[in-house]
Amino acid sequence: MKVFVFTYLVLISMASAMDNMTDLLRSPPSIPLSNKKAIFVDFQKADYQLNYDYNARQLYIHSKIIFYQPEVGSPIYDLLPTESEIYIDGQKSSAHLVYAPGNVTQYKVLGDQLAVGLHTLEIKHYLNTLVVFENDGVSSAFWMSDLSDRRYLEQFLPTNLEYDRYAMTFYVNFLNFPKQQLLYTNGVVFAGQAYNQYVVQFPTYFTTSSVFFHTSFVGKFNHFTDTYKTIDGRVINILVYNNTGTDLTSYLKLTKSVLAELENDYGQWPHGNITIYAAGSGGMEYCGATMTSYWALPHEITHSYFARGIIPANGNAGWIDEAIASFRDDRYQKRMTPGFNSSQMAGHSVYSRYTDDNAYTLGKRFMEYLNYQEDANGGLKPFLKYYKDKWLHVPYFTQDFINELNAYTGKNYQSDFNRFIYGINQPYRFFEGSTSLEKSFGFEDQHENPHHPKLNLEDLEKLL
Ligand SMILES: [Zn+2]
Repeated sequence: MKVFVFTYLVLISMASAMDNMTDLLRSPPSIPLSNKKAIFVDFQKADYQLNYDYNARQLYIHSKIIFYQPEVGSPIYDLLPTESEIYIDGQKSSAHLVYAPGNVTQYKVLGDQLAVGLHTLEIKHYLNTLVVFENDGVSSAFWMSDLSDRRYLEQFLPTNLEYDRYAMTFYVNFLNFPKQQLLYTNGVVFAGQAYNQYVVQFPTYFTTSSVFFHTSFVGKFNHFTDTYKTIDGRVINILVYNNTGTDLTSYLKLTKSVLAELENDYGQWPHGNITIYAAGSGGMEYCGATMTSYWALPHEITHSYFARGIIPANGNAGWIDEAIASFRDDRYQKRMTPGFNSSQMAGHSVYSRYTDDNAYTLGKRFMEYLNYQEDANGGLKPFLKYYKDKWLHVPYFTQDFINELNAYTGKNYQSDFNRFIYGINQPYRFFEGSTSLEKSFGFEDQHENPHHPKLNLEDLEKLL
């Protein structure tokens, strides 16, 4: 028995060490500070207790995170709201903001220095962002953006960066509420022990950009549910909801047709159920979920394969999924040359955390160029399916994409990527005549993609 237990523990620690190795391979380099070193770590597991108190009109959050630290120093995490209390391995601690080299972004770093190994971080904080108490209950959501810095889960909960997958559980308590609260989420929801208590379990491949979470009270939203049989024979649930009187059946119909198209091109739906908030505006993707307009719906569902199926490990990899989704939106065109001189879509700081918005135009054109180059082999689509299958639920760098493309095609596209995507020795950008789609969107002028308008908190509060 002892031997068995020992073997079991060794296997567990080996499995966990392997997880550390793969995720940490794509973390940014640690940051030397004046008197210590700030270290990127590997979250193993996070339990988030969300206590919505109707009488006090507040949301109080208690987070407990187990992480692995690969070298001696002070661990990095991120959280925008101010912490009320911090404990590390049971001892009171503190945290402060630290800049990444070049001031590209900021993180939170713990005051204490820690040894290599597993540690437990506990944080308590109040959250006001996108939390609105109303007469009948509370409307609250953890909505994100990949087009600005620090706009993933760190706006709401202590979390890690995009390179890190970890097991998350929400324990959601609605205290003293007049009505039942409902959850709209891409996790699996279990009823808690008491009325208006829920436990939400998210898949272990989820990262800081994955979670869709929205709660409101009974009666605020209309829902429509249906099922869909995937090509691998699973029956998944489709939930479509909104509060505007929009025709939900049209969203449902479009969802089904896009699912069929994408499964045909790229294989089985890479998540569990699918949740669509038919908000009528916005456009942001999550794993198997989106808040979207009708018009942007196909683009957002595509992101469940490219962006939230395969997952960019940092800001420099974010261009790939927008380029692929735009390539699809514009019906997989071909072009002999990329039609621009160069870009730095993957040439920003290794600490960069958001997507270069040239991805929609220049990135799309580069995919069209690859599509032309691979014309004799059926175009770029077969490679994209291969890449999605091989890297499903694994965070990747742009260089991983290039290496796989070279290996798959037997060609060497490195110099093309160096020039058009990394911008190595090519500081100038030149834009040739636009396609009709680009013109109709006014891409060059607004530098913002209509699929993903940059909504501020005021805009988002109206959608709660
Ligand atoms: Zn997009």
